[in-house]
Amino acid sequence: MKIGIDLGGTKIEGILLGKTGEEIKRYRVATPSADGYSAIMQAILRMVNHLESIAGMACTVGVGTPGSVAENSQQLRNSNTTCLNNKPFKADLETILKRECRIENDANCFTLSEAIDGAGQNSNVVFGVIIGTGVGGGISVNQSLLTGRHHITGEWGHNVLFQNGAACYCGQQGCVETYLSGPGMIRNYTHHNSQQFNNARHLLECADSGDTKAIAVRSEYYRNFASALAQVINIIDPDIIVLGGGLSNYKPLYTEAVKHLPEYVFTDCFSTPICRNKHGDSSGVRGAAWLW
Ligand SMILES: [Zn+2]
Repeated sequence: MKIGIDLGGTKIEGILLGKTGEEIKRYRVATPSADGYSAIMQAILRMVNHLESIAGMACTVGVGTPGSVAENSQQLRNSNTTCLNNKPFKADLETILKRECRIENDANCFTLSEAIDGAGQNSNVVFGVIIGTGVGGGISVNQSLLTGRHHITGEWGHNVLFQNGAACYCGQQGCVETYLSGPGMIRNYTHHNSQQFNNARHLLECADSGDTKAIAVRSEYYRNFASALAQVINIIDPDIIVLGGGLSNYKPLYTEAVKHLPEYVFTDCFSTPICRNKHGDSSGVRGAAWLW
């Protein structure tokens, strides 16, 4: 059987999947923050021990977490659980769990989960997209992840959409993420207007109720979404694109934004399905289990 662990900044979720992928047990605990790294390792150990006692047998363990394992140093980088950064997370995990572990970022876990038994299960090439507080992605072919030479496959969030555009934390300007993330949408609004929004959902609700300034920002967002996604489609031409993350819950994205795609994609008969995910917030933990 398979154990998946989704390690996030606020919670650690574990799942036990049976031989055919059926969910046997799932639970979550708060991520220990005060005690940092070793407390997180202990929490994962307790979770694996508990799930394995339910399974009654040795299980494989996959872990999904923001950030990635650097190919040269084998240390974790870019995690928003900052106490994990620059630590040999994979090696330490394997020592404490006494087995080989597989680790992938949350966008890759999302993609794998949707490719295996989610919205993309009948498609060969699946591009999984996360649009929320950040923008990420992953590519699955024949239900297996592409990872790439530098382990950056699918990282379209840091493709440059606008030269000299807004500054991104990665050091570039005008990255896709700075325009298509929820905070990016809000920044675009406050750039032109004085009203403040706490989150993109509130801004989109204002657009839905007819606020002309919010509608203008939303229209710009739709075009940016289509233009950015077309760059990926022109290269990998996926059989399906599955959206996840907070903004994927906004239904007009699948009609109003997608409507612009044929303007940007290099074909006269664009037909790629752009679908909402099936497993929602569970995709990360399910995908982690599916790493084996
Ligand atoms: Zn960037």
